[in-house]
Amino acid sequence: MYDIIIGLEVHVQLQTQTKIFCGCNTAFHPDQPNVQTCPVCLGLPGSLPVLNKKAYELGVKTALALDCQIATFTKWDRKQYFYPDLPKGYQISQYDLPFSVDGGIDLILNADTGATRRIGIIRAHLEEDAGKNLHDESGRGRASGVDLNRAGTPLVEIVTQPDLRSAEEARAFLEEMHALLTYLEVSDCNMQEGSLRCDANVNLHVHQPDGPKIATPIVEIKNLNSFRFTEQAVLFEVDRQWREYQRTRQTIKDAPKSTRGFDPERGVTYPMREKEEAADYRYFPDPDLVPVTITEAELNAIRATMGETPAAMRQRYQRDYQLSAYDTAVIIAQGKPFATYFEEVAKGCGDGKQAANWMTQDVLRELKERQQTIAAFAIRPEVLSAMVSRVLKKQLTIKSAREVFVELLQSEATPSIVRIDDVVAAKGLAIVQDDGAIDAAIAAVIARNEKAVADYRAGKQAAIGALIGQVMRELKGADAQAVREKLTAALSGE
Ligand code: ZN
Ligand code: MN
Repeated sequence: MYDIIIGLEVHVQLQTQTKIFCGCNTAFHPDQPNVQTCPVCLGLPGSLPVLNKKAYELGVKTALALDCQIATFTKWDRKQYFYPDLPKGYQISQYDLPFSVDGGIDLILNADTGATRRIGIIRAHLEEDAGKNLHDESGRGRASGVDLNRAGTPLVEIVTQPDLRSAEEARAFLEEMHALLTYLEVSDCNMQEGSLRCDANVNLHVHQPDGPKIATPIVEIKNLNSFRFTEQAVLFEVDRQWREYQRTRQTIKDAPKSTRGFDPERGVTYPMREKEEAADYRYFPDPDLVPVTITEAELNAIRATMGETPAAMRQRYQRDYQLSAYDTAVIIAQGKPFATYFEEVAKGCGDGKQAANWMTQDVLRELKERQQTIAAFAIRPEVLSAMVSRVLKKQLTIKSAREVFVELLQSEATPSIVRIDDVVAAKGLAIVQDDGAIDAAIAAVIARNEKAVADYRAGKQAAIGALIGQVMRELKGADAQAVREKLTAALSGE
């Protein structure tokens, strides 16, 4: 028996137009290496960095959302190491005075109940990204290259407490980070482009029959760039460490922290260079950059631009729209434009639960089939809400509404509300509210179903279902509840 102990270091690319210490563009250009560079991010002698205020503000916004304390005074440090993708020979980062510390987020552990646990955030600091080494894989012995387009891109590094207890929790934490940062519009979190990546620190606390738990050596798995890889890497590593412990009985006191990579093709972690101790980086304050101070007024100005976090939205949805924790989670997970669309439908038709049903079932299914985002979805929220309203007003059955929905998607590029009524009229889907017509249909169905009628009158309650179905078909569209009531009355009346 053992506990799994996981802490994450998440690197997030901030959504700025330009790099953190120079004016170079940050757009992703993998096909044109080194086009977005200048003397500053190339690390040429004599060039001087200047802080991009926008990057700092987005960093503060992130830290506020993580419930961190914001330092009123923060400075920049040089982290020295030698690697070809780092032209200056050091990375500008933050060491002993990060701009924010000591926060946390409530992670949802159970989608059905919405139960959460607090995951502590030790710190969030700002730093610049390195470039990318390009290796020729043709096997023809051509030289490797380096692309410095990404060098100097602003990153916020978020370091959690070792509060995560399973691979699924590590994945859920990253998904929550993704939701939080995209809702706040501080990062696009595009994982294919490396905008969100993480290192996972993993070890085990092995239970002893008597006595305290024993901690195994810590392993840092570097550079995980997808939710799935993070989950797979941690699962593999837990299993590997358990086997290793049973074989060697090595504890955290016997071995220093080691560094491993993850090979997604084979699904395994493998040893990498031994991690330098912090002292080896020879951190010292960057003399080219002035420290940053922030006033309460400036902080409030950033707070005012924050917008609602996904966690706050989940609570509001459950409270204001009476949604289940599950439906709420599904809607929020689709991203902000989807959630905004949902709210427009919910407000438009006045029934959050019905709006949520349409969004999480019909709309989501269509989007998946079409591989579309909600922004490109043909039916606009006011049209969907008009259709749901007709169901709520008992002018249309759910089944007929589904037919209309499909028809709308097949007809015009952006169907209008008028189009709903056209489809309803053309297909004869309007609910019959004419009592005479309903009575006539009931009489006809009773007349030609002697056996079912007799069964029902003999006490077989279930027999009414088939009769209701026939009446509904006869009428093409009707309020099922009204039909049931009238039919029950007709059957027991005489
Ligand atoms: Zn530059
Ligand atoms: Mn870092």
